[in-house]
Amino acid sequence: MQKQYDFIVIGAGSGGVRFARLMASSGKKVCIIENSRVGGTCVIRGCVPKKLYVYASNFLDQVIDGKSFGWTMGTAKHSWSNLVNKKNKEISRLNKIYIKNLEKAGVKIIHDHGSFLSSNKIYLKKSKKTISAKKIIIATGSTPNYPSIPGSNYGISSDEFFELKKLPKNISIVGSGYIALEFAFLLKNLGYEVNLIIRKKTVLNEFDPDIGARILSYAIKKGIKVFQETSLKEIRKNKNTIKIITNKKTIQTNLLIYAIGRTPNVNKLILENTKVRLDKNSAILVNKNSRSADQNIYAIGDVTNRKNLTPVAIREAVILFDHLCNKKAKLKLDYNKVASAIFTQPEVGSVGYGENDLIKKKIKYKVLSTEFNPLKYSFMKNKKSKVFIKVMYQPKTEKVLGIIYIGDSAAEIIQSLAIAFNKGITLNDLKQTVPVHPTSSEELVTIF
Ligand SMILES: Cc1cc2nc3c(=O)[nH]c(=O)nc-3n(C[C@H](O)[C@H](O)[C@H](O)COP(=O)(O)OP(=O)(O)OC[C@H]3O[C@@H](n4cnc5c(N)ncnc54)[C@H](O)[C@@H]3O)c2cc1C
Repeated sequence: MQKQYDFIVIGAGSGGVRFARLMASSGKKVCIIENSRVGGTCVIRGCVPKKLYVYASNFLDQVIDGKSFGWTMGTAKHSWSNLVNKKNKEISRLNKIYIKNLEKAGVKIIHDHGSFLSSNKIYLKKSKKTISAKKIIIATGSTPNYPSIPGSNYGISSDEFFELKKLPKNISIVGSGYIALEFAFLLKNLGYEVNLIIRKKTVLNEFDPDIGARILSYAIKKGIKVFQETSLKEIRKNKNTIKIITNKKTIQTNLLIYAIGRTPNVNKLILENTKVRLDKNSAILVNKNSRSADQNIYAIGDVTNRKNLTPVAIREAVILFDHLCNKKAKLKLDYNKVASAIFTQPEVGSVGYGENDLIKKKIKYKVLSTEFNPLKYSFMKNKKSKVFIKVMYQPKTEKVLGIIYIGDSAAEIIQSLAIAFNKGITLNDLKQTVPVHPTSSEELVTIF
């Protein structure tokens, strides 16, 4: 007999897991289908392993900084295989916790691939079974893009990068988004030769241009070899050498990583059997309650391409849970107020609008900004990055519209600032705050 659930969730990543746990805890019969590892992109091959690698990569600079303060240290040497083993252990631990929490909430975990037979029937590929539910939640995330050029298969995506137990000396990264830049910095800091191949002249083009300009110049200063206005034509491989043939010159490398964007993961869902509609980028079209064009089907997280961040997928899950339980949503989600970080070196934290958004939205604004050598790098001024702070505000009301912080601990700083930002602070609130001294972030309240 066909198994019947109240809710079927497809995809046990950030969004799917949160929704399934909440719904099962409220007494509903819920199953979650996962065709890879429970935890999804963030835990298994995204935010978490990346941040562990970033932590590892930052130590060399701390050794160098220490020397400027009078320390004598031996030669620092890093073992990639040691780091990967430790990372794998930690990811397995988190994966087990995710499974345990789902089971504790009463969610049935189905390790299989799910696709639609109809608006409320799912076919399970491995077990060849059909299950059904009153409502189905698609939380299948996104998958990395590969270029459509001959020899494309000689390169790997971020998914496979996290599995590599050995790294060659020379590594090429293609892309200009935050993942490409984070990988470039972390690998350079770990001692590898890094090429960054970008299609335009600039990087981080979806952010305020002040961010990309600074991070690009720091990347070059660090010794990352940046190939601007370079597009791939063909990839060839001969033993351990990969030849990247571009519109300019041929780049030789030993490992090629594509970080050229991601596409909503709808490919193998057979959505033709439903009324779900997609936009031109293959993202599932949903209303503000995450309901698709099909009354029985909802979608959350990266598969809807609204703001592709873990905390956003989780917040969408919580709001959907409240909606489906006919509860007034306790938590809000304003996509324009979500803070985020880029774990380059220096880090970037931003919240609210950048100048690029304000111009696009035709919102009037003024800017306050400052850039300075932080006290910590007093003894190596021109060798280190400066701190950059920028505040955009409405000219009449002086309401803060956006904040950018580039410098050490920017991610931690912007997290705290985001609380105030969400409260709708004005320039006067910044002025009224007595600074914490001596810090770098105090300049935010003395910027006037
Ligand atoms: C390298 C990298 C670094 C990142 N860093 C950050 C960061 O620092 N901060 C941040 O906030 N975000 C970061 N992200 C983004 C973040 O990982 C995603 O926004 C988040 O994971 C989206 O969650 P989700 O629930 O939508 O999908 P996912 O977490 O991707 O989960 C989807 C799950 O569905 C499964 N699945 C797909 N199709 C099927 C099917 N048909 N049947 C069964 N299972 C299926 C997949 O295997 C996967 O486990 C990063 C992403 C990457 C790739």
